[in-house]
Amino acid sequence: MATKRIELNKIGIFGGTFDPIHHGHLILARDAFEQLSLDRLIFIPAAISPHKLKQQPTAPELRLEMLRAAIEGESHFCLDALELERPAPSYTVDTMEALKTREPDADFVYLIGEDNVVHLPTWHRFADLSRMVQFAVLDRSGLKTTHPYPTIRRHLEISASDIRNRVARGQSIRYLVPPAVEKIIRERQLYRES
Ligand code: ATP
Repeated sequence: MATKRIELNKIGIFGGTFDPIHHGHLILARDAFEQLSLDRLIFIPAAISPHKLKQQPTAPELRLEMLRAAIEGESHFCLDALELERPAPSYTVDTMEALKTREPDADFVYLIGEDNVVHLPTWHRFADLSRMVQFAVLDRSGLKTTHPYPTIRRHLEISASDIRNRVARGQSIRYLVPPAVEKIIRERQLYRES
């Protein structure tokens, strides 16, 4: 008897400022893809509220360009600029409603940083959001936090702020970001001033 293939559509959502995207993000994304048995993973760059920052935020087009370059050739990874197309801040629940409308049959897994777990219940329309997605936690510190969500554990001391600071100090960022991202940072003269 022929077995009917069940179409799987489990989609991971990875939001962040990605200023810039780095190997920490990419390694965690790959881990999440494998460990959560995802079919696809969508990177969603967040709009940055300028008043929240001491320094000028990197233009969304440049963060997008770096993201696009970083995931090129990785067929299961893609990006969606929907949060950049509306004024900041974006509520996750609005983003997920938009994605659900587009992909009504998909199961969504929303990746959150471990530092966000305690704040989850205060997120805008959390009850609605939690009906739309499963959460999974990216644990970068190895601290034993208690929560009910699946956890992707890997300790990688790579952060976008460290990368920006290194560029500003004239230090190398080779191996911290993909070569294509390093090239964009150099050519566009990003992060020269801290
Ligand atoms: P910044 O240093 O500017 O705060 P970041 O490196 O944390 O930036 P974000 O774009 O804010 O980068 O990260 C998006 C998500 O990825 C967040 O949930 C963050 O916790 C997670 N993340 C970033 N870097 C790592 C890492 N090295 N290990 C695990 N999770 C990470």
